[in-house]
Amino acid sequence: MKSLQAIDPEIASLIGMEEQRQKDVLEMIPSENYTSAAVMEALGSVLTNKYSEGYPRKRYYQGNAIIDDIETLAQERAKKLFCVPYVNVQALSGSPANDAVYFGLLDPGDTIMGLALSFGGHLTHGARLTFSSRFYRSVQYELGNDCRLDFDAIWKLAKKEKPKIIVCGFTAYPRRIDFAAFGKIADEVGAYLMADISHIAGLIVGGVHPSPVSHAHVVTTTTHKTLRGPRGALIMVTEKGIKKNPDLPALIDKAIIPGLQGGPHDNQTAAIAVALKEASSSAFKTYAHQIVKNAKALASELSDRGFDLVSGGTDNHLLLIDLRGKKVNGSVAALALEVAGIVVNKNTVPFDPMPPFFPSGIRLGTPAVTTRGMKEKEMKKISIWITSAVDEVSGAELPRDPEKRSVMWKNMRKEIRANKKLLTLATEVRAMTNHFPTP
Ligand SMILES: *Cc1c(COP(=O)(O)O)cnc(C)c1O
Repeated sequence: MKSLQAIDPEIASLIGMEEQRQKDVLEMIPSENYTSAAVMEALGSVLTNKYSEGYPRKRYYQGNAIIDDIETLAQERAKKLFCVPYVNVQALSGSPANDAVYFGLLDPGDTIMGLALSFGGHLTHGARLTFSSRFYRSVQYELGNDCRLDFDAIWKLAKKEKPKIIVCGFTAYPRRIDFAAFGKIADEVGAYLMADISHIAGLIVGGVHPSPVSHAHVVTTTTHKTLRGPRGALIMVTEKGIKKNPDLPALIDKAIIPGLQGGPHDNQTAAIAVALKEASSSAFKTYAHQIVKNAKALASELSDRGFDLVSGGTDNHLLLIDLRGKKVNGSVAALALEVAGIVVNKNTVPFDPMPPFFPSGIRLGTPAVTTRGMKEKEMKKISIWITSAVDEVSGAELPRDPEKRSVMWKNMRKEIRANKKLLTLATEVRAMTNHFPTP
């Protein structure tokens, strides 16, 4: 980054520090990953200079012949990889992609039905304060007492509320999703089924999670999670979707532009095309299988060490841990783990009595560490470190009274950041991560 160094040493130095941080830590936020150098080269290319409002061969600006080829290539690769007849690659990220589907298919006030945020749904699936609940009527389903999808309850709610779109696909659900069951419910109530596979797209193309394509009408996904591409998104319409409404592709294209966006980010489109090429390789299949093997190994090691895994384990890339049994609040554990060099996120657990900023659990996953080449042996080490770090703050439950909590949290943060045991763990973690290069 010679030019950056010369022009803006401040930003160059901060990027350098972030690069070092990403190398030193165990990156275990399940929605993060390390994208390849090839993807980053496309992302940092001259394509960022171009305006291309419109679609291939239907642009509002001149000079787009090459951009047309790039966007067409991205589309063709996505269609082939996911087995769908139509894709839009222009949504700037996952949330705008979901909003575009609603904007294209619904009128304001129409009903959408998604999993509640506190049970593992995404903000855009109808959560309070979001576009998806302020402009549409949001009805939310919850998980059953076993912390799994309760299709009987979902069917009853759908019959009662008659949503126009049912959303499935989640952000914090560690189990396999039965897309066929969702498809049947949507068909029975005449709803569109939208499968948001943001978290599991890489597992689906790698063959370790069933695909929603024969059951859903519309499929959305981010490109930067298990799919390991740049930040971005795909909106796909399936054969089933086109059968139900042949206008779906046109409605979605129009929702993106002029509905919600102007020019696409062509550098991002090219980087998505590169990631899709990588994801179609046999090496990627091996990678996807290893993600799940690692998650299962980690789940079993952590269970053995007394952690309470929501739903009892995992079928995919992520684990949701209820820390009430360890007598630690999720935000306290997440900070202690960060000081120890293990980066996870605090997360609500199903039926959580605590608020989202101080939830009872943490969420962690294996996509990024698996990209670095870690396997079951390393998962065992990681589980030992996680146990030591969480035990170090055991007893740190936070009061439910907001004022008392804020004072206590402030003092606790200072102590945790200076905790010798946690800082020593971070040096042990670093000694290991140094053996696993990032791309
Ligand atoms: C991450 C995620 C999104 C949103 O992606 P952004 O790129 O952060 O806007 C949408 N839906 C689900 C299920 C996700 O996990």
